Amino acid sequence: MPLETEHVAQGPAVPRRPATLTPLALRSAELHPQSPLGRWQSLNAAATIPHCLENLEATGAVQNFRRLAEAGPEGPQGKFAGPWFADTDLYKTLEAIGWEIGRTGTATWNDLLAELATLMEKTQAEDGYLNTYVQGVEGEEPFAHPDYTHELYSAGHLIQAAVALHRGRQDRRFLQIATRLADFVAKLDDGEGNPIIDGHPEVETALVELYRETGEKDYLTAAERQIDRRGHRSLEPGRFGSLYYQDHLPVRENVEALGHSVRQLYLAAGATDVYLENGDESLLRAMEKLWDSAFGTKMYITGAHGSRHRDEAYGDPFELPPDRAYAETCASIAAFQWCWRMLLATGEARYAEEMERALFNGIAASTSHTGKAFFYSNPLQLRTGHEGSDEDSPSERLPWYGCACCPPNIARLIASLQGYVATGTETGLQLHLLHAGTYAAPGLSVTVETEYPYDGDIVLTAVGSGELSVRIPAWATGATAERGDNRLSLESGQYWRTEVEDGDQIRLTLPMPPTLVRADDRVDAVRGSLAVTRGPLVFAVEQADLPTGVLVEQLHLDPSAPITVERVTEDLTPVRLRLSGIARPLEPALYAPYSTGTATSEDSVSPTSIDFTAIPYSAWANRGPGAMRVWLPVL
Ligand SMILES: [Zn+2]
Repeated sequence: MPLETEHVAQGPAVPRRPATLTPLALRSAELHPQSPLGRWQSLNAAATIPHCLENLEATGAVQNFRRLAEAGPEGPQGKFAGPWFADTDLYKTLEAIGWEIGRTGTATWNDLLAELATLMEKTQAEDGYLNTYVQGVEGEEPFAHPDYTHELYSAGHLIQAAVALHRGRQDRRFLQIATRLADFVAKLDDGEGNPIIDGHPEVETALVELYRETGEKDYLTAAERQIDRRGHRSLEPGRFGSLYYQDHLPVRENVEALGHSVRQLYLAAGATDVYLENGDESLLRAMEKLWDSAFGTKMYITGAHGSRHRDEAYGDPFELPPDRAYAETCASIAAFQWCWRMLLATGEARYAEEMERALFNGIAASTSHTGKAFFYSNPLQLRTGHEGSDEDSPSERLPWYGCACCPPNIARLIASLQGYVATGTETGLQLHLLHAGTYAAPGLSVTVETEYPYDGDIVLTAVGSGELSVRIPAWATGATAERGDNRLSLESGQYWRTEVEDGDQIRLTLPMPPTLVRADDRVDAVRGSLAVTRGPLVFAVEQADLPTGVLVEQLHLDPSAPITVERVTEDLTPVRLRLSGIARPLEPALYAPYSTGTATSEDSVSPTSIDFTAIPYSAWANRGPGAMRVWLPVL
C-alpha cells in the first residue's frame, strides 16, 4: 500500500483531479460554535456519538468482532448478533469519530480506537476479507449471496471510516485494514472476468475516496468497474427484484430515480465521484438527467426522498403523500452527499440550494434536541390518533433501531458538516451555505456573522483578497449587498461574485418574509393545501401549539391573512409563525367518513376563527407525541 508522505488533511469528498470547485482543507473551515449548526456539531460529539457507541455495545455489534478476534481453538463462542450489516453501524460511527477528531483534536476515543483496531486486525482474514456476519455464521461463504449480504456495502463503510480517521488523526492502522480489504475487493471476480457487485451500492464512493487518500489508481479502477458492471442484472433478483438492487439498467441509461431510494442516491453519489476523477462526461450527463428526475419530480418540500414504504422506494413522479411519506433519514443524507459532488462538478447553485433544503429540514428533523433519539422515516403529516412508533411509523423519535443505519449516518455527516459550506483556491472563495463561521481558502478567508437560518442579515468580513462568490438562495427575492456607501441589488438563485480586499466588510440582507408555497397539481395528495416557509425553513403546525379542543385536522389556513414572525430566545424553535384561519368543527358521519354537499354548505356547523402557531418542521415531536402537518388546507 503506497501512502504519500505529503499530507494535507482533507474533508469529505475532495476530488484529486481539479474540479470546477475545490473544497477547503479539513481544518480551514469552522462553524461558529454558537451557531445552530455549530451547536449541533457539539451535541453530536457530546451526545450522539457516545449514544451510538453505547448502542453498538448493547446490540452486540462490537461483540461480533470480539467473539471472532478472541476465538480460541474451539472457535467463536456465542452467536452473531444483529442484522447482517451490523458492522456498518460501527464503521459509520468510527467515521464520525475520525471527522470529530479532525475538527477538534479530541483524544476522547483514543483507547477505544486502539481496542477496535486490534479487534479488526485480529478478525481480518489472511486474504484481507473482513465481515463479522459471513465470518461468524456457520455455512456462510464470502460473496455467496452478494444481492443481500451487504459485504461490499460493509467494506465501503469500513473504507470511509479509515479514510476519515486518516484525515482526522493520521491513523494508519485502520487505513491498513481498509486497504487490505480494498485490495481483496479490487480483485473480486465472478469467474468470467466481471467484478462482483453488491445489492446495496456504497463501495463506489468509498473506493474513490480511498484512491484520493492513497493515490493508488487500482481503487479508482475498481470503482469504475463497479459502476460499469451495475445494471446488467448480474445479481439474483430474488423477491425484491433488480430495481430494488439498482441492477435494472446500466448507470448511463438509468435516468429515472427508481427503486430503493438510499441505494439509488448512494449509487448516484458514487457515479459522480467516478466522473470527478476520470472525467467521463457520459456519467455526468446521466447524473444530470437522473438528478432532474429525483429532485424535479420525486422530492418532498423538506428535501426528503422516497415516498413508498414498500421496498423503501421512490414512487411515481409526483407521488408524494405527506402522511405516508417514507422519507428515510439516510436518503436525505445521501441526497445531500450527491448534491455536494454535483456542485463540485458543475458549480451550479441549484445543487447547493438542495443541500440547504435537506439539511435544515429533512435531515434536521431526524434528530431530537437531546441528540439521542432519531427518526428513520420522516413523514410530513401525523394524524390525531396515530398509534405506534416503530421504524417506519413514527409518532416519536426512537433511541435506536433494529436496522440502525440512520443514527450513525447522522453522526458522520454532522461531524464533517463544516467541510460542505465553502470551497476555494488561491484566487477566491465560494460560500455555498450561508452559516456563521470562518472559511479560509489559501488566498482569501471570510468570517460570516449571522443568525441564519433564522435571520437573513449576514455580515461578511474578508481577510486577504480575491474573488468572493456568495450563493443568493432562490427564495431571496430583493436581496441586497452593502459595502461602504454602495448598495447593490442581487439576483436570487445564483452566485453573486465580487472582488474583495483585506478588511472589506459586506452586509448582505436576504429578505425572509413568511411565504406560502403550493405544490404542483400532480402532487394530488396535497392539492388545495399550502405549506408555509421562511427562508430555507419549512414550517409545520403541531398539536402541542393548539388550544385544548382544537385538533390539527380542523385547521384551514386563510391565505389572505398576514403572517406574523415571532423571534424567541429559545433553542428549540427560535422562530415561530402566527397564522390565521378557521377551525372547522368535525361533523360525525353516520357510519362512513363521507357526506353530501360541500364542507362550506349552510347546514354545516359554523367554523370559528383562530390564530395558530407554526414551528420549524425540524423541531417537531420534541414535546411528546402528537399530530402534525406541513401542508395546510386553505379556506
Ligand atoms: Zn437509514
